This record gives sequence, C-alpha cells and structure tokens, in this order.
Amino acid sequence: EWTGLNELRESYLKFFESKGCLRHKSYPLVPQNDNSLLLIVAGMAPLKPYFTGQETPPRTRMTTCQKCIRTGDIENVGKTARHGTYFEMLGNFSFGDYFKKEAIAWAWEYVTQVLKLPKDRLYISVYEDDDEAEKIWHEDAGVPMDHIVRMGKEDNFWEAGTDGPCGPCSEIYFDRGEKYGCGKPDCKVGCDCDRYMEFWNLVFTQFERHEDGTYTPLKQKNIDTGMGLERLASIMQDVDSIFDVDTVKAIRDHVCKIAGCEYGKEYKKDVSIRVITDHIRSVTFMASDGILPSNEGRGYVMRRLLRRAVRHGKLLGINGLFLKDLVKTVVDCNKCEYNELEEKYDYIVKVLTTEEQNFNATIDRGMKILDDLIAQMQKDGKTELDGESCFKLSDTYGFPIDLTREILEEKGMTCDEEGFAECYAKQRETAKNAHAATKYMGADETVFHKIDKDFHTEFIGYDKLEGDSEI
Ligand code: ATP
Ligand code: MG
Ligand code: MG
Ligand code: MG
Repeated sequence: EWTGLNELRESYLKFFESKGCLRHKSYPLVPQNDNSLLLIVAGMAPLKPYFTGQETPPRTRMTTCQKCIRTGDIENVGKTARHGTYFEMLGNFSFGDYFKKEAIAWAWEYVTQVLKLPKDRLYISVYEDDDEAEKIWHEDAGVPMDHIVRMGKEDNFWEAGTDGPCGPCSEIYFDRGEKYGCGKPDCKVGCDCDRYMEFWNLVFTQFERHEDGTYTPLKQKNIDTGMGLERLASIMQDVDSIFDVDTVKAIRDHVCKIAGCEYGKEYKKDVSIRVITDHIRSVTFMASDGILPSNEGRGYVMRRLLRRAVRHGKLLGINGLFLKDLVKTVVDCNKCEYNELEEKYDYIVKVLTTEEQNFNATIDRGMKILDDLIAQMQKDGKTELDGESCFKLSDTYGFPIDLTREILEEKGMTCDEEGFAECYAKQRETAKNAHAATKYMGADETVFHKIDKDFHTEFIGYDKLEGDSEI
C-alpha cells in the first residue's frame, strides 16, 4: 500500500530528489553545536548554519525527513487529532537557490498530482501582506480565491528573535469534513478544531529583520518547508487522527492489548492510550539518540514523558513493567528508516526500563506517605488534605497530583486545590527566574532553555527524589 507512512516518506523524498534536492537522512534529536535549542523541533533546525550562511551546504537544495520533538504540544497530545510530542517532518530547503515560485509550484504538484488530493478540499493561507504568494497560488497554481485566506503575523510570519533572516509563510490545509468540525458558526480555515487541518508550512525567508524593527530584503533568499508525515498519512489513509495511521496504530493496538481494553469505547481511556502511544515513540527515539532521563534539560523532558506514559498506564490498570514490550513495536515499525533503533534495541530497553522501575519505586513510596496522611485525617475527622501536603507529595516525592486526587476521592476526600495551586505558582515563579527561557524560531518557548556550557545528562540514583509535579 503506497499510502503507508513509510511509503509516503519515500514518495516525498523521491519527488524532491527529482527536483534536484540532495536527500539527507534525519539529523539526531539532539542539536549539534547549537546551545540555543534543547531538542530538534523542525526540519530546518539542524540546517540553521546553512540558512545564515555560517556554513556551506553540501548542495543549495536539500530534502529531509526529520525526527522532531515538541514538548510545547504536550497538553494537546491525546486530545487533538493532529498533535504528537514526537513526529516526523518532511521538508525541502533552498539556500539561496529556488524561491517562492518553485516552492509553491512543487508543493502544489506534489499534493495534487502525486498524492492526488481533491482540490476542492485544499485551502491555502498566505501572510496578509504577501501579495506575491497569493498571486502565485491563484494565477500559477490555479487555486480559487475563496480557497485562499490571508492571515496575520502570528500565524503566517516566521522570525527568530529581534534580528536575522525571517519572512512570510503559506500553509496548506485539508478540509477533513464537517464531522471533524467544532460546529461553531465561525469555524473556518485557521480554526483550532480538527476540521481544517494544517499539514504543510512553506516559509519564504526573504527579509532581514533589524534590531529597530525594520525589515530589508535579503540577498540570499531561502526556502524552508515542513510537512508533518503523520498528518499527511492520516489524510491519505482517510482516518480520524494521527493515532490511526498504520505505524502509529500498531503501537496503539499494542497498548490496548497490554491494558486489555478496546480503543474507541471511552474518551478518558482513549486519551490515556493515545498519550502512551505518543510518549513511547518520543522516549524510544530519545534513548536511541543518546539522551538519558535526568533532572534537567532534555533529560528532564524525557523523564517527564516516560513517567507520564507510565502514569497513564496505571490509569488503564496496567500492572508491572510494560514499556519494553512497546519498544519492540516502535522499533519494528520504524527500523526501515531508522536502523539505529535495531542496533541499539537492548540499550534502549535498558534505559527505559531502569527509569520505569525508578518511577514505580517513587510511586510506592508516595503511596505510603499518602496512606499515613489519610489515616491521620480520618483520626482528626478531616476530609480535605491541605495544599501544602499535596504539593510536597508531588514536588518533593515526585508523586503525581492526579494520583493523590484519585486516591483521596476513593476515600470520599478531596485535596485543597487552591492551596495546592498557590504552592505550585510560587514554585513556578522560582523556576522561571532560574531558567530564563529564550524564544526562538517562533516555536513553543517551553522547548527552549539556555543550556549551560557544561550541560550533561546523567542517570540519577534511586535515592534522589525529584520534583515532577506535572506528570
Ligand atoms: P499547528 O498549528 O497544527 O499546531 P504548527 O503551525 O505549530 O501546527 P509548524 O510549526 O508550521 O506547525 O510545523 C510544520 C508542520 O509540522 C505542520 O504543518 C504539521 O504538519 C507538522 N506538525 C507541527 N506540530 C506537530 C505536532 N505536534 N505533531 C504532529 N505534526 C506536527
Ligand atoms: Mg503548533
Ligand atoms: Mg499552525
Ligand atoms: Mg504552521
């Protein structure tokens, strides 16, 4: 089946090879020689030195399928049809070579002639001042005006910080039909719901932004495009979400098998199933790229994702270690493109299982503490656990707050939410001051932290307690 995720990747890369682009395999998830970035969030990120002219690219046209992690999307995962923390981004790039005309023509050719997507379900967004792009979409590609929308700076202009190369972008949307809509009367392209799904973003890097906020045209104009492979596959396979795409569904089915439950029966369970499905992909690829769970930087991202997966496993009633079984499926579905997965299989299992055991020990310890607190409350005739204790359980002992809530509920008790929120906010403030987040590339700032020069990840022992109040 040529609409399989692995086949679609190949089809895209071949197409852009035929346009003269050099194919390069995915760069690692860990940025190389780039301290401004915690994890790779887009296809262009590892190519940054070629865009700025700092380094000479092997060819002025390239195409890649890049592994990406966006923790900024974590709250969306499991809830929208289109967000994962892990996904692959297909891209074609020009470093001072082809520009808007070709980028648009080729994207349209690929979408309508190779993929044969019906034109009446495709919509285009252009930056409000980008008359040139609108003209190319309309006059050259033949997109009718009522399928082109103009959008503001927030959505359709890409810039990094206060100076440097930047430019407008155009996005391609697919109308998945009314059944995926939010039903609001003003639902249209750009709505946050899952009806009009953005699947390809074309960035036209044509300006230089200066400190004073002015823009001048760049001599070397670049193209940077990004298309979510899972999103594309969900369109081509005509399925509800990225979790129904062949290679992702295989993992989802495996989660259901382990949990002994059926997908599509109960919303809350489905969210947990999707969260585990996504997060196991993230942590498997992170481990294969040499990241280890820790308390800072990308190691902390990994720890949080892994624990979140385990936590949702518990919500589904899974007892015992289960990540290693899922890793097998992740590896099997992806090894044709990422052979490092198979080579490092034993290592990946070891890294993930060690952390899973570590977390289970944390849960056991927290349970004991909470049991004691409950016993004391029963003695005192109280039914509400004070916010500070709830916070301490989560912050000091790493015991997830939702687990505290659930257990209290079972005893007909509650947690002092207001008090908890206060403690949490206080700690956040401290943390925020400690990590002045740098915003970069218009991506979610939660992904970026300034990393110390001697940054390193390390395993922490069982004796070290960690603050992870957000699992
Ligand atoms: P959205 O508005 O849907 O969150 P985006 O505008 O943040 O997407 P871009 O930064 O433009 O996304 O990234 C380029 C492409 O990568 C998107 O058009 C989409 O196909 C894909 N993509 C982005 N974020 C995700 C994600 N969290 N999971 C899966 N695919 C994604
Ligand atoms: Mg987004
Ligand atoms: Mg968008
Ligand atoms: Mg976009």
